Amino acid sequence: MLTGYHVAFIGGDARQLEVIKKCIQLDAGVTLIGFDNLESSFSGATKKALTCDVLKDVDALILPIVGTDDQGNVESVFCSKPLQFLEEHVVCLKKNCVVYTGMAKPYLRTLLTRHKIALVELLDRDDVAIYNSIPTVEGALMMAIQNTDITIHGSQVIVLGLGRVGMSLARSLHALGAKVRVGAKRPEHMARIYEMGLTPFHISELKYQVSNVDIIFNTIPHLVITAEVIAQMLQTALIIDLASKPGGTDFRFAERRGIKALLAPGLPGIVAPKTAGQILANALARLIAEQSQDRGE
Ligand code: NAP
Repeated sequence: MLTGYHVAFIGGDARQLEVIKKCIQLDAGVTLIGFDNLESSFSGATKKALTCDVLKDVDALILPIVGTDDQGNVESVFCSKPLQFLEEHVVCLKKNCVVYTGMAKPYLRTLLTRHKIALVELLDRDDVAIYNSIPTVEGALMMAIQNTDITIHGSQVIVLGLGRVGMSLARSLHALGAKVRVGAKRPEHMARIYEMGLTPFHISELKYQVSNVDIIFNTIPHLVITAEVIAQMLQTALIIDLASKPGGTDFRFAERRGIKALLAPGLPGIVAPKTAGQILANALARLIAEQSQDRGE
């Protein structure tokens, strides 16, 4: 339980609603900043403006998945007024307050480090990234179905990267009957791909693998689907790039060759905001409870 604990939320989207529900369920005191247009009223939560006074006794501050931009702007789908998280707000936080977000930009990281405020980036955590790979894969499959005129079953697909998303995706495509090759670089990943009944190849060999591919899914956040690779692909092939912006594809050259290449960020929040919110809510509840135990509260 989080009785006596003060959790404040600044901005966010539908995913945050699950986290708010969970905190109220666990009896935390909840303050909502930037939720002016939120229709459902949570009993047990108070809407406030972003001021020093509100922040000064907060134990856990929860920002949206993308945290802030490089100027401190915080997005909120529940508020039409601009929200900015600035140094003047950070100085008001208690020294043992913990700030939680999905992924922090350098702006937020630098600001919090300067004031010795702890920051937890949820999407960095293996458990959250693995749970999150489930809606990500469902979103990637949805995009493949929407953008091709063939079945996934029997198609030639390539997955690049055998990380948290790559492994879940390769396994799901295999289960659907696709002929799956996976590009990786570490020997242990090659071994795992082979063990999964899939065909491994070294990422440096990508250009020799693509001549008959129907769909390439990229999860590597570096330029790997280069012009040289795209030049070898069929014009009917589809590229679905799941890696964080700017992705790992030469989109300019793909367009020039008439090959459809789609950057697909934020799929969990698009295809399954409720599940994506529950994944965050469960992780946050666990972390905040650990934080309160560490303080002996
Ligand atoms: P991850 O576990 O770190 O996996 C990334 C994989 O890429 C690892 O296997 C890594 O191998 C490999 N890799 C990195 N650099 C490489 C290079 N230069 N050459 C070859 N392989 C390389 O990350 P993840 O959780 O699977 O996420 C993958 C990407 O998808 C991230 O950019 C993440 O932000 C994004 N993402 C997008 C969505 C969405 O909705 N589109 C959802 C979740 C995640 P090593 O370990 O050997 O470096």
